[in-house]
Amino acid sequence: MSEHYLELRDLRVRYDNVEALHGINVRVGKGEIVAILGANGAGKSTTLKTISGLMKPSDGGVYFKGKPLHTLHSHEIVRLGITHAPEGRRVFNTLTVMENLDLGAFTRNDKERTAFILNWIFELFPRLKERVEQLAGTLSGGEQQMLAIGRALMGDPKVLLLDEPSLGLAPILVRSIFDSVREINEHGVTVILVEQNARAALKLATRGYVMEVGNILIENSAAALLEDPEVQKAYLGGS
Ligand code: ATP
Repeated sequence: MSEHYLELRDLRVRYDNVEALHGINVRVGKGEIVAILGANGAGKSTTLKTISGLMKPSDGGVYFKGKPLHTLHSHEIVRLGITHAPEGRRVFNTLTVMENLDLGAFTRNDKERTAFILNWIFELFPRLKERVEQLAGTLSGGEQQMLAIGRALMGDPKVLLLDEPSLGLAPILVRSIFDSVREINEHGVTVILVEQNARAALKLATRGYVMEVGNILIENSAAALLEDPEVQKAYLGGS
C-alpha cells in the first residue's frame, strides 16, 4: 500500500461539550478498501463526517496526499475527489432519481466525463436507469441505497466514504451492494466503509479498524481481523 494517501492524525472531534473522537489515527492507502467497525455510538459516522468536512476537528487533522483537508469547506473536499454516501440513504425524496444524481455532479462541469460516469452508474445499478423519472421517495430501501452511492459516484471520487450501505437491507441485497462496492474499487476508487455488518465488510476490505467509544481499539489486515478471537466474540457473532 502506498502510505499516507488519506490520513487521520490524532483526530479529536467534539459535539458541544462531548468529545466523540479522542485522538484517533487512521491511514488509508491508495486503492484500498478500509473497513471501520464498531458498536453504535463508537464514532464511525463522526469519523466519515470529519473526513468530508461536515465536522471540524478540535485537535489533530485529516490529510489527503499530505495536504490538510480539515481547513477546507466540504464542497472543496468534494472537488478534490472525496465524496460521502451518508447513512440512512439520504436521498432527496421529492426529487427524481435523475435529479438526485445531477446533484452529485454539482462541483463538476466536464460534460463528457459526467456522461461517462452516469453510464457507468447505470451499468452498476441498472434499476436506477429503469427509474430515472421516479421520485426518490418512492424507491425501495435497496434502490435508495444504490441512489445514495450513485450520487456520490457522480462526484467522480478518488475516495468514496460509505456509511452503513447494508443498513436495513435483505441479505441478497447486501451481497449485491457489496459486489458493487468491490467493482467501484476495481475501477480505482479507494473506499472507506463504515459497517455494522462486520463479517461482510471484512470479507471485502483490505484492512480494518475497530472503534470503541471514540478510540481505535484494534487495527489489522481484514484477514487477521476475521481470525481475531476478540473481534469474533464482539463483532462476528462469536463464530
Ligand atoms: P451508529 O452506528 O449508531 O451510527 P457511530 O459509531 O456512527 O454509531 P457516531 O454517530 O459517530 O457513532 O456518534 C459518536 C458519538 O457522538 C455518540 O456518543 C453520539 O451520541 C455522539 N453524537 C453524534 N452525533 C451527535 C450530535 N449531532 N450531537 C451530539 N452528539 C452527537
